[in-house]
Amino acid sequence: MPEPVSKHTASAKTPAPGRPAPPPARSPQGRADLSATEASAHIKEVVKASAAEQQWEAQEELAPLIVSAEDAPMVQLVNAMLMEALQRRSSDIHIEPYPDKLRIRFRVDGSLITAHDLPPGLMSGLVSRLKVMASMDIAERRVPQDGRIKLGVPGKGAIDFRVSVLPTIFGEKVVMRVLGTGQLRNSVDELGFDASSYQEVKEALRNSFGMILVTGPTGSGKTTTLYTMLKELSEPDVNIVTAEDPVEYNLPGITQVSVKPQIDFTFDVALRSFLRQDPDIILVGEMRDYETAAIAVKAALTGHLVLSTVHTNNAPATVVRLVDMGIEPYLVASAVKLVIAQRLIRRICTQCKEEAPVSAEEQEHLHESTLAAIQKTFHGKGCEHCSQTGYRGRAPVYEVMPVKNKELKRVITEGGTEVMVSQVARREGLVTLKMEAMRLVNEGVTSLPEAMQIIVSD
Ligand SMILES: [Zn+2]
Repeated sequence: MPEPVSKHTASAKTPAPGRPAPPPARSPQGRADLSATEASAHIKEVVKASAAEQQWEAQEELAPLIVSAEDAPMVQLVNAMLMEALQRRSSDIHIEPYPDKLRIRFRVDGSLITAHDLPPGLMSGLVSRLKVMASMDIAERRVPQDGRIKLGVPGKGAIDFRVSVLPTIFGEKVVMRVLGTGQLRNSVDELGFDASSYQEVKEALRNSFGMILVTGPTGSGKTTTLYTMLKELSEPDVNIVTAEDPVEYNLPGITQVSVKPQIDFTFDVALRSFLRQDPDIILVGEMRDYETAAIAVKAALTGHLVLSTVHTNNAPATVVRLVDMGIEPYLVASAVKLVIAQRLIRRICTQCKEEAPVSAEEQEHLHESTLAAIQKTFHGKGCEHCSQTGYRGRAPVYEVMPVKNKELKRVITEGGTEVMVSQVARREGLVTLKMEAMRLVNEGVTSLPEAMQIIVSD
């Protein structure tokens, strides 16, 4: 029997009879038999060698947000405006052209406040400066443009501004959304749930599969709730991926993707790709079409925890919306574990809070049973601390609906209407947004006029 011939392994031993020849230990291409420890050590060596040889690409240098008298006046104006907006806890900055003025307004705690009325002559310079910062085409003034500005802010880190320019009849209007400055909490217990809702949320987060949905209008704090949940779920042994439009906060240890509908990189496309990347937990920014909802439900039923939002008014309407989108009712009933509906309402300024009786007009708008539930009402009369608004900061209002009891699952499976689902959920103890808003009024956290929107709409 001839010896096995190998050019590369001159010293290779003859394999024992009946056993296949081991792979060659060395070849010009390298070794194929590294142990895990050797492979791991080799990685460290390679990294060490490359670090010595190459200059690692420097981290993206962030332009700092500073106001310096040495800069051109327009640069100073823009930087001071951004700084003022951030200091006033603004979520949006509006720069609006009118024939006689250039109005600058900030959205603070959900309400727009006029900050400055500037001479209209400043408009083109100011808009041009912002376009330069947002890498837009300065010369283009006839069509809308979108861009982004990223600045380093001392004490706050990197702040992103999403900039949108819209040509109006009086000139270009700029709206800048401040991203990543919302109140990101460290854990779910800081989100302000009452004790029993908190237990339901924690229980839902312990699921290894299923769907947790958050609903509410834009600016109701959904992102804060979802991101705080992700933060709590984030562990080194868990693979979390998100598809967002756009990414609002950078979360360490989480793979975040900004979808780009303009190039057909939509939520459902992102989701399909995610499923090939071995995720444990998936966040889908929003479910608004059948394709996205269908693949999200499928993911939730095949071993993934899926977090997402749906645009509805309350928790019972959310499960019904999924059915309306075309998802089979029984799939909705088994996939959805928890629905949170939420709003943000302004808190009465604690510095100028005083008791305020229910006005005649308010009495007219309120149902008798609601009036009967009111004990004492308060308002803020306005002071320095709250810029004379009577409010400072906002409080969340939650409606938490676990989908776990037989009766609720049954009514969903049978394709029940919003009213039917709501009736069952209430029988099971659902505390509605309206009930929560009333509680905050009675506790003096918010005023009756502020809570009216929630109370009356229900
Ligand atoms: Zn005040």
